[in-house]
Amino acid sequence: MYIKEGWKCCSQMKREEMKEVILPLGSKKYGKLVCLHCDHFIKWIPSPKTIKEIEDRQRKIQECLDQPNFPSRDRQFLEGIKDKRFICPKEKTILDYILQ
Ligand SMILES: [Zn+2]
Repeated sequence: MYIKEGWKCCSQMKREEMKEVILPLGSKKYGKLVCLHCDHFIKWIPSPKTIKEIEDRQRKIQECLDQPNFPSRDRQFLEGIKDKRFICPKEKTILDYILQ
């Protein structure tokens, strides 16, 4: 992250000192979190759709892990990605294969 010279206000950032900026429709990103004081970029905010996809995926993974007879090799893979917010395309392919 680029930090301006002499810039201090975000160095001890607390949640209440950030604000959400939702980007116009058609933007590549949904929104961003910026510093309340100086608008310094902090991080991107995933869209509600993306959050729902993540939650759906984590729920499906948990359902598989809850099955006592679930194959241990697949279980190992799912344990490894279940807490990840974002998975890579390769992991996605394997996951789709396991879940089908
Ligand atoms: Zn700031």
